[in-house]
Amino acid sequence: MSFAELSLIPALLKGIEECGYTTPTPIQSRAIPEALAGRDLLASAQTGTGKTAAFMLPALQLLSEPVAKRRGAPRVLVLTPTRELANQILEATRTYGRHLRTRYSLLLGGMPYREQFKALQDSPDLVVGTPGRVVDHLQRGSLDLSRLEILVLDEADRMLDMGFKDDLEKVIGKAPSGRQTLFFTATLDRAMADLAGRMLREPVRIDIGGRQKTHDAIEQRLHVTDSRQHKEKILQHLVADKEINQAIIFSATKRDTDSLARELSAQGHRVAALHGDMSQQARNRTLRDLRQGRIKLLVATDVAARGIDVTSISHVINFDLPMFAEDYVHRIGRTGRAGAAGTAISMASAAETAALGRIERYIGKSLPRQVIPGLEPTRGLDARPARNSRGPARSGAPRKPGDRSARSPERGKREFPAKQRGERSAPIIEYRSRRSDHQGGVATGR
Ligand code: AMP
Repeated sequence: MSFAELSLIPALLKGIEECGYTTPTPIQSRAIPEALAGRDLLASAQTGTGKTAAFMLPALQLLSEPVAKRRGAPRVLVLTPTRELANQILEATRTYGRHLRTRYSLLLGGMPYREQFKALQDSPDLVVGTPGRVVDHLQRGSLDLSRLEILVLDEADRMLDMGFKDDLEKVIGKAPSGRQTLFFTATLDRAMADLAGRMLREPVRIDIGGRQKTHDAIEQRLHVTDSRQHKEKILQHLVADKEINQAIIFSATKRDTDSLARELSAQGHRVAALHGDMSQQARNRTLRDLRQGRIKLLVATDVAARGIDVTSISHVINFDLPMFAEDYVHRIGRTGRAGAAGTAISMASAAETAALGRIERYIGKSLPRQVIPGLEPTRGLDARPARNSRGPARSGAPRKPGDRSARSPERGKREFPAKQRGERSAPIIEYRSRRSDHQGGVATGR
């Protein structure tokens, strides 16, 4: 199938061609015709599948038909979990829509209000924003959703994980019931299905099995480690690899992110840190430096790195394993972008045995172990894997019921309180269990 067969207008076809896209990805060829026909969508698609264009091209096509405007009342609203992802979406939108006269505005948390008020006064057709700030503007009266025609939720699962459920409900409450809703999520469990069930009207269900595809292009390895010092030595060895074009190094906490970046910088690497405590300006600058190749190594937390789409990233290094298996998939998806090959190297100490067990069950294979001569571990990992998602994760101690804040063993708070995920019973609407093809694992319920 070609883009021309998707009934897109010539101005959009031209924009797509200039992006170098020749054929639609599976999510695009399935979602675009349905969205253009005005249907609601419930789409399960991982990052890297081309989902941004899948919702943005139909939205831009709608906006190409002019209507009378009102200040602060967009026709399309895209909600995303993080500022980085919002920026990325807007950038892609500008590219796809470069031959259209669409007005865009970004409503991001952590940014000054004044410019956002001004942008809303300029009657944007399309707003991309993070839920908290969008709700702020609704409450201040600067944003009016009464004319909303399309509501897009991108990475809805992540928005729920980050505690934006109430904000999403508030947005839904203010949007016209006749709107079209395009709901994108990487995973669909009961909580998601519940939310989707309340938001969508007779949605078309699209399920793109992007996960396996992503993995095939990415070589994955694991180093068993004894201690943090051991990890640091392995990291030092790994980053000296000439094969690395650019790498993202993931660590669990903001504090670690800074200290690792400092250590690597002292070793002579072009490195920067990226985490949620940095100002938006500093984050933008870091991402620009990464994109332009001024930095080679980026040490980041999960939240900050969400949505980074830089095709030159050849390696992802997990200095710490993520608490949840889905985050592992998101992390390694930062490499192997747009069909390129990638390498994902993880380190795990005995305290991370349970997290490793969850990841391996989730992806359906064990990570090949690798040993660096001279840096061999002196002991193996705990032989007992986690039995389910509520099992001990990093510290070895079970989390108490209601303890939503996942902590790393000794080094401060995580980037955001991860939602505790437990087993759930029957779904409200049909959904695909993320555990369907594996035994056990973290993935089923939230
Ligand atoms: P996304 O899943 O929207 O983050 O897109 C992942 C990557 O695929 C981005 O780098 C896009 O620019 C790229 N991409 C999206 N659609 C296509 C397409 N039809 N052909 C080639 N690359 C694409």
